[in-house]
Amino acid sequence: MSIAGNIDDVKSKIAAAQADAPEFSAPSVRLIAVTKTLGAEKIREAVDYGVRDLGENRVQEILEKYPQFPTDIRWHLIGHLQTNKVKYIVDKVHMIHSLDSLRLAAEIEKRAAAIDRVIPCLIQVNIADEDTKFGLKKEEVEDFVKEAARFPHIAVEGLMTIGPHVAEEAPIRRVFQELRQLKNQLSELPLPTVKMRELSMGMSGDYELAVREGATMVRVGTSIFGARD
Ligand SMILES: *Cc1c(COP(=O)(O)O)cnc(C)c1O
Repeated sequence: MSIAGNIDDVKSKIAAAQADAPEFSAPSVRLIAVTKTLGAEKIREAVDYGVRDLGENRVQEILEKYPQFPTDIRWHLIGHLQTNKVKYIVDKVHMIHSLDSLRLAAEIEKRAAAIDRVIPCLIQVNIADEDTKFGLKKEEVEDFVKEAARFPHIAVEGLMTIGPHVAEEAPIRRVFQELRQLKNQLSELPLPTVKMRELSMGMSGDYELAVREGATMVRVGTSIFGARD
């Protein structure tokens, strides 16, 4: 199938999952096309078809691709962000999905303040707790949110997680449920600057499950563009 056809297919599966699980699914789900490792030609096909949200996991790739695409593209940084690289992307990213340390938050604050921008960020939570090194533990998130809320140039807008790489659905669902419950819990905190509205969860293998559990953003690469090299 073509990239356009794949996008239609993913969108219709998202809509079906929403219709099928109205209790927890979000009224609107943003599809982020994950373009890491891909060349400009393939990405352009998706952009020409109307996709405006692109996800990248490396700073270097955002820097290379950014000038090649229209300025209304929303670049999402979905991978681990090193503190010393914040300065390169602070004026380019629409949202950082991988906030996971106070050191990183302090650096984003400093760089964003310097250009008078407030950067929307999601806190990455490592619920599946596999071999992935990145993300806060569930128990750490509340204290972290309270600290992050004090940075005026960071807008904490929600949570992000990566589902476990397992074949069975039940453990994947459980991770997504836990992230939703954590978000609900955190939205009770009396922190006026924190808007806990986004749940970034679900990739090619599990985005339908994530939508059923309340994802507001899914990050899909392979199902749109085919396997990466
Ligand atoms: C690569 C990546 C994705 C997309 O993965 P696919 O399986 O190709 O859909 C989503 N989220 C993150 C954090 C990634 O690194």
